[in-house]
Amino acid sequence: MKKIKRQAVSNKSECVACGVCALECKRQAIQIFKGCYAIVDTSLCVGCGMCEKNCPAGAIEMEVIE
Ligand code: SF4
Ligand code: SF4
Repeated sequence: MKKIKRQAVSNKSECVACGVCALECKRQAIQIFKGCYAIVDTSLCVGCGMCEKNCPAGAIEMEVIE
């Protein structure tokens, strides 16, 4: 059976730019763009879900990519 791959997606209108997700991400896949909102580098994200789990604003969702 094929393993499901997931990727983090940030919602910039809900993000409060606290930076928690960037600190939690072991792959350094998240940056806070101009101090305003989180952006995920999808080429680095391994879908661990730590950012989603720790975001206080519920601004990250895990999306199934395949
Ligand atoms: S899912 Fe994991 S690897 Fe991907 S951005 Fe979030 S913390 Fe980083
Ligand atoms: S943890 Fe959530 S609110 Fe904080 S910067 Fe990341 S996406 Fe934005």
